[in-house]
Amino acid sequence: MTAAQSAIIQTPNRWKGFNLMQEQTRVLVTGAGGFIGHHLVTSLKNQGYWVRGADQKRPDYAPTDADEFQILDLRRWGNCQEATRGIDHVYALAADMGGMGFISSHHAEILHNNALINLHTLEAARENGVKRYLYTSSACIYPEYLQTDANVTPLKESDAFPAQPQDAYGWEKLISEILCQYYTHDYGMETRIVRFHNIFGPLGTWDGGREKAPAALARKIATAKLTGNPEIDMWGDGEQTRSFCYIDDCVEGLCRIMDSDYREPLNLGQDRMVSINELANMIAEIAEIYVEVKHIDGPQGVRGRNSDNTLTRQVLGWEPQISLEDGLAQTYAWIEDQVRGKLQAEAGLAPDLASVLTNQS
Ligand code: NAD
Repeated sequence: MTAAQSAIIQTPNRWKGFNLMQEQTRVLVTGAGGFIGHHLVTSLKNQGYWVRGADQKRPDYAPTDADEFQILDLRRWGNCQEATRGIDHVYALAADMGGMGFISSHHAEILHNNALINLHTLEAARENGVKRYLYTSSACIYPEYLQTDANVTPLKESDAFPAQPQDAYGWEKLISEILCQYYTHDYGMETRIVRFHNIFGPLGTWDGGREKAPAALARKIATAKLTGNPEIDMWGDGEQTRSFCYIDDCVEGLCRIMDSDYREPLNLGQDRMVSINELANMIAEIAEIYVEVKHIDGPQGVRGRNSDNTLTRQVLGWEPQISLEDGLAQTYAWIEDQVRGKLQAEAGLAPDLASVLTNQS
């Protein structure tokens, strides 16, 4: 990571000067080997918490800052008991997930795995006397019938019912939200529920089939730039719309929601909607290249989706701040470095390409 990129991942002022209480609070982050979990661990450490990470793998692109990192399959009951032992706060992020390509083609696996992870982690947390439990849900819980138009009305928290979530992934998220609310109702456990809207940033999955739209487009545009072939593929006509939230805002929002007294679901995302074509143009502008977009068949998800942040503003007195342009600039720079490294490794076999890449870096 460059100095400019790491500068943006910093401790917000409100957390400077952490106190003894934070040092003594023991926090578990599940999914700490993944994109958001990894950044969250770093932020919690900067705030002074003692942090345990748990995941079935370590982070892919940088070492963890956690005090302790347990490699555990959290579908298993005994592993969830181990992960939550001696813990005060849990941020539950572990999930079998990916972009549209993955979640539209692995329904049974996703519902099975994520249901087991969440049923067991929440119950083990209760048994171990965890004081606060934050569950990370998704905008995918919102009904498909409200998202059929690219010019969609932003989704507010109360829109969740009557339910018709997107795919098995969305159904499982909605059930786990309800489970958290029943744990509060029946056992008095303090739970928090966050609905993310498309989080992106450096150190996230950018290839392999689980990447999401901003990372996939950044990879394709970086490849176009570094190889000189301007053509990139895009699934669908590119007129489908979304909002995108930068990782630093996501992490700050997570901590604010955990610290709040609010027990109902809250959106965490940007409310600036762009089409996927616009997103590609913004990234190409950052890369300073011209791309030829070839629209091909592929899963597109709902036609339009945006976050209504009214309730988030009311509850937190805050909403995501970082512009899409600034976030994409950080993300593109990191992904271009990754693509260059990969192409250079491959070019070990092709000296002509190696010289092109070396001249461009
Ligand atoms: P990610 O895939 O990068 O991280 C998820 C982590 O969970 C991975 O490291 C994975 O190894 C781990 N995991 C999966 N199965 C496991 C198991 N059986 N045992 C232990 N660990 C396991 O995803 P992310 O983008 O960091 O997402 C974090 C959370 O936020 C997830 O719950 C996801 O559903 C939710 N979410 C993310 C977005 C987004 O835009 N990134 C949007 C909506 C919701």
